[in-house]
Amino acid sequence: MKKVLRCVWLKKLSIDFKPKILVSACLLGKKVRYDGKIKKYDLSELEKYYDFVACCPEVDGGLETPRDPSEILKNGTVINSAGVDVSKEFEKGANTALSLTLKHDIKIALLKSKSPSCSNKIVYDGTFSNSLVEGIGKTTKLLLQNNIEVFNETQIDKLLSKREDVRTTQSLF
Ligand code: SF4
Repeated sequence: MKKVLRCVWLKKLSIDFKPKILVSACLLGKKVRYDGKIKKYDLSELEKYYDFVACCPEVDGGLETPRDPSEILKNGTVINSAGVDVSKEFEKGANTALSLTLKHDIKIALLKSKSPSCSNKIVYDGTFSNSLVEGIGKTTKLLLQNNIEVFNETQIDKLLSKREDVRTTQSLF
């Protein structure tokens, strides 16, 4: 009987357990965007399955809000629209994000698309002409190098189905 109760308790614990994921602070409505605006995204469904750890690599790297927008040049340097090299700040922010994943044992990140820090797919091309090219942000690059999966806000369904797979596997035990 004791064994059965323990088994039920462990099963409940595994189903209720919410893993932590790293989330771009701007997606959570924090005032960290380069333009100082707040844009709230609906992450309520995702919140049922994951605990969020917020990060903003650009602010963590020492940049202010609002700030000049930045883009990545072909050689990997990051400059802002005033021509200032902000690569060091971007690297510092990426390292802070990686430290958070290590501290909280995080394996997945949900980061903002098109950002020179956070994008996992496309970025502005470094000409400040509103042109997008295939590419990833500095923080995403470092996270991927450390085996953290990175999704963006248009891939929430994918992230949800991933969690459903885990729950289905858990419920088999
Ligand atoms: Fe910060 Fe990333 Fe959002 Fe930019 S996209 S404001 S770096 S969290």
